[in-house]
Amino acid sequence: VTAPAGAARARAVIPLQRGAVYGPVLSRRLGRSLGLNVLPDEIKVCSLDCRYCQYGWTGLRSIRTAQFAPLLPAREQVRADLEAVLAELAAAGTPPDTITFSGNGEATLHPEFPGLVEDVLALRDRHAPRCRTAILSNATTVSRPQVREALLRLDDAYLKLDAGTQEMFGKLNGPAAGVAFAGVLEGLRELGRRIVLQALFVSGPVDNTSPAEVDAWVAAVRSVGPRSVQVYTLDRGPADASLRPVPRTRLEQIARAVREAGVEAEVFA
Ligand code: SF4
Repeated sequence: VTAPAGAARARAVIPLQRGAVYGPVLSRRLGRSLGLNVLPDEIKVCSLDCRYCQYGWTGLRSIRTAQFAPLLPAREQVRADLEAVLAELAAAGTPPDTITFSGNGEATLHPEFPGLVEDVLALRDRHAPRCRTAILSNATTVSRPQVREALLRLDDAYLKLDAGTQEMFGKLNGPAAGVAFAGVLEGLRELGRRIVLQALFVSGPVDNTSPAEVDAWVAAVRSVGPRSVQVYTLDRGPADASLRPVPRTRLEQIARAVREAGVEAEVFA
């Protein structure tokens, strides 16, 4: 899952990350964030195909982990790569502020995701004890108890919810076969206040900012009851070039509607 942050500037999608560890990159929320990409270098593997994705269209769209397991980096390789970078940063006196599962798709699809979380926590304790751990996830796997348990071991879990209906979820997020909006919502409700929701709004041929769409989305947010909501629009170029960013004033109105529903909200634009 990718991390949009701010108004549209460059309009091109960005290349996929190379290797298991990238950055640190500067992030407004996460500080100096060391990215952890537990997905392949050459192809985006995701259970969604969001029209706004900054990495372009999904190369392999599936929720069935076993289907692409052979393409994924091994847990041992990820651990070794992360340890090398963390040790180097610690030796230079510049440990990251956050280690973040992010990158070329959806990290929780990795069949060894719980073990990867365990390794990240152990390496953080050893090399950068003050560093936080985080994940950007699309929430399509949170119906799996082992994924929920692993997510909650991290300091911060940022989970995606851009739509309030199955129809908008289908149009905007392009779910893989077997991924239903109701199931995503049910899993998110299990997590409730222990997570932060992220929502990206766009206009154009697909528009999730109409009053009806926003009302449905706010109702969904309220039913989840997260710690807070982060409201965004396009940052880099989207996969679907016909999409447009949403003005900050509209994002502020949307955030206000969330607050009126009793949930904290902040605009990142
Ligand atoms: S969840 Fe959407 S935005 Fe995130 S990597 Fe997958 S397709 Fe891209």
